[in-house]
Amino acid sequence: MKAIQVSQHGDIDVLQLVEKELPTPGPEELVINLYAAGVNPVDTYIRAGVNNYTANFPYTPGKDGAGIVAAVGEAVSWFKPGDRVFCTNTGMGCYADTTICSQDHAYPLPDNLSFAQGACLGIPYGTAWLAIHQRAGAITGETILIHGASGGVGLAAIELGNAHGLTVIGTASTEPGTQAAYQQGADQVFNHYDQSHWQAIKEYTDNQGVDIILEMLANVNLGQDLPLLSKKGRVIIIGSRGEVSINPRDLMARNADIRGLALANASLDERQAMYNNIVELAKDGKINPVVHHSFSLEQAGQAHQQVLEKGAAGNIVLITRPE
Ligand code: NAP
Repeated sequence: MKAIQVSQHGDIDVLQLVEKELPTPGPEELVINLYAAGVNPVDTYIRAGVNNYTANFPYTPGKDGAGIVAAVGEAVSWFKPGDRVFCTNTGMGCYADTTICSQDHAYPLPDNLSFAQGACLGIPYGTAWLAIHQRAGAITGETILIHGASGGVGLAAIELGNAHGLTVIGTASTEPGTQAAYQQGADQVFNHYDQSHWQAIKEYTDNQGVDIILEMLANVNLGQDLPLLSKKGRVIIIGSRGEVSINPRDLMARNADIRGLALANASLDERQAMYNNIVELAKDGKINPVVHHSFSLEQAGQAHQQVLEKGAAGNIVLITRPE
């Protein structure tokens, strides 16, 4: 099999394409012929060894993938060879043409989604789902600000917010990102590099403020998020790349909360409940992941550069084998 392998932390040149033997799957595992792998910012943190991430070397990056089941262990009851699936949080890594994963980490891929779209469901949609439903406890009719709505998690959150009956405000920094946010169903999109966007959002809500903020860059925005909250508002910290100062009185004045989120903390039961819901929403046509750029397996380094660049307008994927 072909796979990207990393043997030490470093820049993109540590992403090496290798040929290796497929390990023997265990009784509860699936062998999946992967057609696409999702590229998420966390893949770059693990590769570089930053933001408290490390790795057991050598390893194959990539937590998200989609493909067709090629073989199943004798104790697998949920899948059979030939099934279309997406997988997430696989131990073996998805930057490869084949992976092995426990049946607990695979889910049926609806026919209306491509493999590339399926590779965007795991981390982006899982994170957005947990943020809205579990951490924010969003109530239908509330207003949500997705601060960073043009990336993988943000675009997923727009769809999931709409599916839950929220009024969805987003931010982006470029025209393609803004258009992607509108196409996914945002009610209004502002530019997060324009310092007047805070005031503009407040006015958009008739000075009531927003009930929920999903924050993709808390180290830049958290201090100004808090005065934008309504009474009992919640900010969910999804992304942060440094420290920030806040005025605690902004929380006191509103009985407001700052809540952290790490998808990695979700239990197996929580994961199965949310991904089963995501599959149902996809079957109903309420989820349509945006693939912004596709790269080949050999171009994994370029994909790592792209996913950290400004001007997001959807997800980055690797096409891991031809269909
Ligand atoms: P992405 O696809 O690279 O998108 C990044 C988003 O952040 C884009 O919408 C980008 O907008 C926006 N952004 C950039 N500067 C901003 C600013 N000053 N204010 C507000 N937004 C800004 O990444 P992603 O996959 O959506 O992930 C977003 C963040 O969440 C990353 O930091 C990632 O590491 C983190 N994350 C955390 C978890 C978790 O479990 N907590 C899970 C997944 C992701 P423009 O490019 O248009 O400027």
